[in-house]
Amino acid sequence: MIAWWRSPSSRTSGPVVSASDDILGRSARALAKGIRDGELSSLDVTRAYLEQIHATEPALHAYRCVTSELALAQAQAVDRARASGASLGPLAGVPVALKDIFVTQGVETTCGSAILAGWVPPYQGTHAQRLADAGAVLLGKLSMDEFGMGSANENTPFEPVHNPWARDHVPGGSSGGTAAAVAARSCALGLGSDTGGSIRQPASLCNLVGLKPTYGRVSRHGMIAFASSLDQAGPMTREVGDAALALGVLAGVDPRDSTSLDAPVPDYLAAVDAGAQGQLAGTTIGLHRRALELDGLAPQVRDRFEASLAQLADAGARVIDIELPHFEHAVATYYVLCTAEASSNLARYDGVRYGLRRDRPSLRETYEATRHDGFGAEVARRILLGTFVLRADSYADYYGRAMKVRSLIAQDYAAAFARCDMIASPTSPVPSWRIGAKVDDPLAVYLLDVFTIGANLAGLPAISIPAGFTASAPRLPIGLQLIGPRLAEPALLRVAAAHEAANRWHLERPPASGGGS
Ligand code: GLN
Repeated sequence: MIAWWRSPSSRTSGPVVSASDDILGRSARALAKGIRDGELSSLDVTRAYLEQIHATEPALHAYRCVTSELALAQAQAVDRARASGASLGPLAGVPVALKDIFVTQGVETTCGSAILAGWVPPYQGTHAQRLADAGAVLLGKLSMDEFGMGSANENTPFEPVHNPWARDHVPGGSSGGTAAAVAARSCALGLGSDTGGSIRQPASLCNLVGLKPTYGRVSRHGMIAFASSLDQAGPMTREVGDAALALGVLAGVDPRDSTSLDAPVPDYLAAVDAGAQGQLAGTTIGLHRRALELDGLAPQVRDRFEASLAQLADAGARVIDIELPHFEHAVATYYVLCTAEASSNLARYDGVRYGLRRDRPSLRETYEATRHDGFGAEVARRILLGTFVLRADSYADYYGRAMKVRSLIAQDYAAAFARCDMIASPTSPVPSWRIGAKVDDPLAVYLLDVFTIGANLAGLPAISIPAGFTASAPRLPIGLQLIGPRLAEPALLRVAAAHEAANRWHLERPPASGGGS
């Protein structure tokens, strides 16, 4: 679906390949510096990215809409501000794109659902606002699993998104559009949301850095709710430094979200620069060995994980064994709680206040027809499950019990962090799979969240970073996950940067980005 496409610039394609390759090859941090130093113009950078979107979208379908005119106007404003000597924000001129879960004033926001198709928000969400305040240029909105429910970006009434590393494979989900766009260099950095792994898992499947902050570190205002006690927004980037740069812009208390944390925002880039020196002496990494015995952990993922852990140890980190006694209950706990919260959050889509409306003779029939036509099968399944879980006669057995197990899981992490600084694991037990291969088995897909959802249940920060590729064809990315105690983002970024400094995977280009590696 590229009917929305409007030609990004008057420039015709010609011998500009090397100039735009230079732009697309730079990290967001390097772009911001180039623009600040006057070496690059924001307009040239934005045009290069719009051309890249034009070149890659027919194969990937990562974007839901491209805001070319807005982007060019924002870029011109950055160039004018620089020319006038005004001080530029930390992301000035950096082209970004947002998962379509983020509310953008004046720009259609669907949350990947037919029920919100055509909804143009009358207000700006905190994320879009903070990015704009920092000088970022908005390229558009990115495809996702409907309401963030899924792991493959196939739960969508729109086109499924393709993985730039292997076009017939899924990009992961639910932030699959963000992952595909960042990997294909059709935006310099992207935002995703993570309720049970949706930043980290697609990052892992697309060779990216994906950072889920501590619960409350980043506002949820203007991020359409799926499961409010688990949802967090965060950056998806090609390099660790870019994730630090974006987090510094997004983090901080927000008067419009009472669950946002009023804690000082540290210098995340300083943590990255320290880590890039490659020295991890004094850092203790916990290894939950039992989780590696899991059925369904692909041997190639396990091999890459062990290689990464050995690298961290070589850099001076101490690796110790830890226990997470309630680990195997996390998936079941999550799916009871997230469906319960979703059933309540999604009650507001009734054909009266937002988006789709199917007019029927009575109000009740209008509700029913709107919700029947507006929600896809996975969303309907979760609303049904969540409504069942919250019924008066099943509440204590399901919701109440899941809340108790959630506390036990949080206590397990607290006990582990008394002995180590962070816990390492694979991010996803498997690399990407073929589009369509798992659509008939939702339970199998739920089980793939096994390594990621603990951090959401306990409100902890976690990062996924590139950890190499499968040895067999097709060559698919594999991710390493680090989970830390609350507000330990600087430590996670430091170790992630040390790992990045020891490897070159983050510099590789996927086949569907118009360049070789
Ligand atoms: N795969 C998980 C789910 O389907 C995670 C989703 C998310 O983090 N938004 O619920």
